[in-house]
Parts: sequence; C-alpha cells; structure tokens
Amino acid sequence: MRVPLPLGNDALALQESFIDHLQYTLAELPKHIDSEWEPYVALVLAVRDRMIERWIKTQDAYYEQDAKRVYYMSLEFLMGRTMGNSLVNMGLLDQTTKALHQLGYKLEELRDAEWDAGLGNGGLGRLAACFLDSMATMGYPSYGYGIRYDYGIFHQRIVNGQQVETPDAWLRYGNPWEIARSGDKFTVNFNGRVNTYVDGNGKLTNEWVDTRAVLATPYDTPIPGFGGKTVNTLRLWSAKAVNDFNFEDFNEGDYVRSVEKRAQSESISRVLYPNDNTLRGKELRLAQEYFFCAATLQDVIRRYKKRYHMYDEPRGLKTFDRFAEKTAIQLNDTHPALAIPELMRILIDLEGLGWEEAWDITTNTFAYTNHTVMPEALERWPVAMMAYLLPRHLQIILEINSRFLALVRERFPGDDARLSRMSIIEEGSEQRVRMATLAMVGSHSVNGVAALHTDILKAELFRDFYEMWPDKFSNKTNGVTQRRWLLKCNPGLANLISGVAGRGWITDLFELRKLEPLAEDPAFQEKWRAVKRVNKLLLARLIQSKYRKQGKQITLNPDSLFDCQVKRMHEYKRQLLNVLHVITLYNQIKDNPNADHTPRTVIFGGKAAPGYYTAKLIIRLINAVGDVVNNDPVVGDRLKVAFMPDYRVSLAEVIFPASDLSEQISTAGTEASGTGNMKFALNGALTIGTMDGANIEIREEVGDDNIFIFGLTAEQVNEVKQHYNPWDYYNSNGQLKRVLDMIGSGYFSGGDATVFAPIVDSLLYGGDRYLLLADYASYIECQQRVSQMYRDPHEWTKRSILNVARMGKFSSDRVIKQYAEEIWNAVPVDVR
Ligand SMILES: *Cc1c(COP(=O)(O)O)cnc(C)c1O
Repeated sequence: MRVPLPLGNDALALQESFIDHLQYTLAELPKHIDSEWEPYVALVLAVRDRMIERWIKTQDAYYEQDAKRVYYMSLEFLMGRTMGNSLVNMGLLDQTTKALHQLGYKLEELRDAEWDAGLGNGGLGRLAACFLDSMATMGYPSYGYGIRYDYGIFHQRIVNGQQVETPDAWLRYGNPWEIARSGDKFTVNFNGRVNTYVDGNGKLTNEWVDTRAVLATPYDTPIPGFGGKTVNTLRLWSAKAVNDFNFEDFNEGDYVRSVEKRAQSESISRVLYPNDNTLRGKELRLAQEYFFCAATLQDVIRRYKKRYHMYDEPRGLKTFDRFAEKTAIQLNDTHPALAIPELMRILIDLEGLGWEEAWDITTNTFAYTNHTVMPEALERWPVAMMAYLLPRHLQIILEINSRFLALVRERFPGDDARLSRMSIIEEGSEQRVRMATLAMVGSHSVNGVAALHTDILKAELFRDFYEMWPDKFSNKTNGVTQRRWLLKCNPGLANLISGVAGRGWITDLFELRKLEPLAEDPAFQEKWRAVKRVNKLLLARLIQSKYRKQGKQITLNPDSLFDCQVKRMHEYKRQLLNVLHVITLYNQIKDNPNADHTPRTVIFGGKAAPGYYTAKLIIRLINAVGDVVNNDPVVGDRLKVAFMPDYRVSLAEVIFPASDLSEQISTAGTEASGTGNMKFALNGALTIGTMDGANIEIREEVGDDNIFIFGLTAEQVNEVKQHYNPWDYYNSNGQLKRVLDMIGSGYFSGGDATVFAPIVDSLLYGGDRYLLLADYASYIECQQRVSQMYRDPHEWTKRSILNVARMGKFSSDRVIKQYAEEIWNAVPVDVR
C-alpha cells in the first residue's frame, strides 16, 4: 500500500495545501472570494492535515506501547478558538503568517472568522480545555469526552443596559476542525422497565427492556500538544434518532408524527445548560448526562476489548481483570457520575461479572473532582425521575447504597444521624439521589481544586466521608495552560520574556523565575510597561467599538489603571462589592473635584444565567452606574466604567494582557479555586482579592508585598455569620450608607427607586448572604492602597514582574503531572 508522503511545514507547502483546499474541498477560485470564511476554512484544513499525520502516529503509539489510557469526562469544554493555539502548538505560526501574506491574506483577519467553541459556562469548562492542552503537551495517552451541543453558551447582548440572550448556533456554517466518525456510533437506551428472573443456571438476572433508543455519534477534534509530537483526541457525542420504524405510527398513517419523534431524540444534545454553580433539575439534563456516560463507556470498553479480550484468548477467558490497570476515568464534577452505575450495569448485566468483582473494577477506575461547596450547585436528582428515565440504574444505585451503609454501620455502630447524612438517598418530602455521594462512594479518589477548598471539603461538606476514608481525599490546585494564556494571547509579553529568560517557560513555567533579577531594572521595566500599554490600547479600542455598536460613546485613557473583573455573574463572586467601590470613588471625585485622583477604568464582563434575576439586575446596575459616571463632566477621564458584552474565551485573550488589576473578591470560602486569578497574574496584573480559593496560594507564591489582600478569612466568615447584622455596618459607615442610599433612591435609574431596590433589599433585608457590607470598609481601604501604589510606576512594575516570575505553580502542566502520578498512575508515551 502506498503511504502518503509527509506534508511540508514551510510557507510554500502550506500555500499549496491552502490553494488545494480552496479548489478541491470548497470549489472556490481565490479571485472570486469575498468573505473571510472560505479562506479561513481552507487554512483550517491545511493545518488540520498536518495535525492528522501526528494524530494517527500518536494513536498507533498508544496502541503499540500498551499504554494506560486516561479519560477526562466533562459535560463542558470551553475551548474558545482553535486556530491560534494550533498554529502555536504545531510550530506553524511564522510560516503560516508568511504563506498567507504572500497570498494577500492577513492571518489576524482569517482568525477572526472562527467562532468560539463555547461548550461550557466558565471555570469548570475552561479547566477541562486547559487540561487537554497540558495532557497532549506532556504526552499522556488521554482523551477528552463530552457532548457536541448544537448550541453552546448563549451570546449576551446588552440592550438598554440589560442582558439579552441569543442562541449560539456555532455549527451553522460547519466546524472544519472536527471529523465525524459516523461509523463508530452507539445505542443509548432510556425508560423501559427491569425484567428480573432466574436464568437456566439458577442465576438472578436483570434485563432492562422495552427501552427507547437514541444513537450517539462521535465527532473528533485533534488536540495538538506543544511541539506537535503528540496529538490527542477530544471526542464529543451528538444524538441522532435510531433508524427503526415505528409501525404503530405508520399504521395510523401519522408519518409527520414519527418524524417529530426523531427530532425529540435528537434534542438530547441540542443545548448546553447555561447555569454556572447552580443547577436546574430538568429531566432533559439528566438525559444528557446519561447519554454522555453510556456512549463514552461503550467506547472505552470497545477500546479495552480490542486489545485485552485478545490478550486472554489463549486461556479461553474474556476478562476485565486488567480494566482498571489500563483505564483511568476522571469525573469533572458529578455531571458524569452516572458512569459509575453504568459501568456496574455493563459488567454485571451484559458481561456477567459478579457484584464484588464489578465493584472492585469500578472503584479502581473512577476518580472524582469536586468543584464547589455551594449547596445549590450540588446535584440531587429526584428518585422518581430516575425511576422513570433509568430504572435499572436506580436499582443499582440503591444496591450500592445498601452495601455502603452496611459498611458505615459496621464502622460507626449506632450512629443513625451519620447514616442518614451519608446515605446516597436524601430523604424528605421528595427522595433524591445525592450525586456527590455516589461519586465519592464509587471512586478511589476525591479531590478539591485548591488547598482551602479541599480543607473545607474535609472539615465541612464531606466531613463524614473524610472520617471514613481519609486516604481517598487529596488536593489538586487548579492551573492554566501558559501556551494559550501567555504565549498565544500576549505575544508582546511572551517575546519580551523569551528574550531575557529563553523559551523554556513554555513547557516549564517555573523557568519564569529567571525574570526575578530584572524586576527592578529600569530599562526592562520600561519595556514591560510599553508592552502593557500596547495591550491596553488594543482593549480600549475594542471596548470603544463595542460601545459604538450599542449607540454609546466612551473614551478610555490607556494611562489609567485598568481594573478588571471578568467572570460569570454570581452573587458569591461579588461584582456588586466592586460596584459599591466604583460609586464610592465617584463620590470622592464629586466631593473633591480638584484633588489628585488616580485615574481608573473599571472593566466588567460576564454572563448571568438567564433565569438568575439578581445577577441580571447587577449587570443592569453596572451599566446604569456607567451611564452616570462616564457622562459626568466633573469626573472626566478619572473614572470610567465599562461593561464588555459577551465575555468568552476569545475576549478573555484580549482582556487579561491589558489588565493592571485583577478583581478576585469572592466571599472567603465560596470560590473553590478560580482560574481567572491565575491568567491575570500570568499577564502581569496585580491581584486585589480575599483569602479565598487559589488566591491564598497565589499570595503564598508571589509574597505578601505583591498582592492586595483584604476582608474576612473563611474562618472569620463562619464566625461572623453566627450573629451577622448588615444594618450594623450600614449605620456605622457613612460612606457605605450614602452609596446604598444612592442605589436605593434611584440615583442611577433616573429617579425611579423601584429599579434597583431589590439589590439594596437583598443586602439590608435579605441578610446579605455574601457579607458585602462586612467586607466593604476593608475593600475600600485596600483599593486606596492600590491607587497609591499605581502612582509609583517603579513600585508597581516591580510587583507586576514579580507576579509573572512566580506563577510557575499555576501551570496546568503541574496539575496534570500530579493527577497522573497521584491518581491515574499514568505515564507519558513518547511518540516518535
Ligand atoms: C478563566 C475563565 C473563566 C473562569 O474565571 P473565574 O474568574 O475563575 O471564575 C470563565 N470564563 C472564561 C471565558 C475564562 O477564560
């Protein structure tokens, strides 16, 4: 058989591929093309061809070297755009730029034609994307598994200062990065009933029958590691109707109805649920979760059998003995936790294993990552819903539970309260399945995502389980990939760093330590500031153009302090506390217009879940405050407030490099880790933050002098909450009272006091769940220190450089190495 020749990576070879694809794939003649889309697609295909060569080699190497596979199961992958990252990781950036230039195209413009793959809500989905990059870069034999939603996270538009959601039809023009594997489809069943009987050998058998079937078809995206040696796979499932014909419908002549039913099956992968850190208990969401787990496990088992059923054939045995030895599955939160009863079902009902053997394999295979301690985010599915949708799985879960509770009883005799706390089934007016408990019981490893978060899991949320299994618990502090979040998104800074410290940091972030001796070097500082200023100009221009599209005018001063808070809108993240500070600054300028105020541009960005009323009202407040502040001639360019619509990965890549100050101000004990905090610091922003999530570890790394910490600690929060009265703070702090009264009296809503009253009420009458008032004074004082420091460019730049220099720990490469060594027992494979 003729083996294809390797493709060249020089500009000429890239040009040839590009022109070939324009002609033979897209049937276009360059001179007749009048949009960026066709040349963008031709470029994707030219790059993809080069990835495919390595992809095939990689997969073959995994097979030949008999590697242990790692499966990262996540309902969310917030990938953003793929072009820039692929060119960087494949080492094709320079030659591609050159090739396109010679053809009269600009890489920048073609890149902009790409839609973000927004198959995630926020941090959890982006973590999965960073992990894929690190796993491929480090050569781990790994696969991302998820759902190919037709509609990703909604687009946010701002109309009259308010969020309006529009659907993200990201696949409308096709997705040239993916390859449909229509041949590798699997059937996934729902509903039906369980038929229990004793078979011919006297064995009790459970058969799941009369089910409704849906097809899962995989779409693969290549994930190139840096250096282009390893190319891994992200496999996303799409739901398709099965091709069987419903004769009942046919007999009734209702052809249209039978077609409509097909659309119903296919709706399973229609849309990503747009909630971050809160859950809506919708049956379709539970169906999505099971669809995903069932398809993924069939694929994982197929891959295992391909080798190991063969392996044991001489003994005449088809065995799963080596399954856990060859397979590690990481559950990204509880969303894929149904994989646990599903694997049990497959091993027992379909493969004929006994319970104990199946349970051993299952618990040795799975590991669970917890992402939140917020009670409203913990999945608890009604037993009745599960009985209807997944009757056999409910049976298995109940069996897991009764065996587990027997262990608890043995270990803690007579402790009924503990038993009911630890049960997988929550009792109450409605019985529910606690998915976090199921995940913990069915896994050999449970991890939190920052030191504080893991401590809280052990001491509070999962205390009983920690007491039972202390060795199951560990911490894996999150990280981000420096390939996307510095090398790709901030080429100015990346080049400046590489010029003095070499390029080692790209795969070993601790190499950034080499910057430390330069922190106070005036010439280096000058270059550092120049890079930041260019990035700020780019962001200012972008914001100005977004505002023009809203029919608004805003001018941003690139020499002002760019103070950024971009993340999902959520009360616990306290964007509202930031607004209280903005209004405080506004009052200070108005009271004292001739004083020397440090100019600030306060930039917000983030989506609110469509059903989250308070979060949406806070967006409206930010825009209303902006309208007043930005148009007050007394204020001038000393204070501006901008809300960036539609915050997403491709926008984040412009914001982080342009930021001076990173707002990480969640109530201590609520933000599991945060990863935005790491991306900001990696791009030279200083952090103002609470002792929450990974902020604590960032402080540990950069040093107390190089971060602005304020507010109550998690311990103090628990203390204060015992006897908290927000009115005490309102009545004793004149500045705070004035700010709240302005919001409540309609100062920012044209005199209409009703508009923002619910916000003030939530603080004063609603108990101020997130303790904004308790932290206000400390926050304002800390912000004054920030403003003071910014006036001294030498001191500020020194801290900026030291922050970047000390970010080594926060690479997702470090995290993946820890997962691999401490949880997965997986080793990298060298792809020659
Ligand atoms: C990093 C990132 C997040 C997570 O931000 P946090 O501040 O950690 O909540 C959310 N969305 C996008 C687009 C990101 O890039």
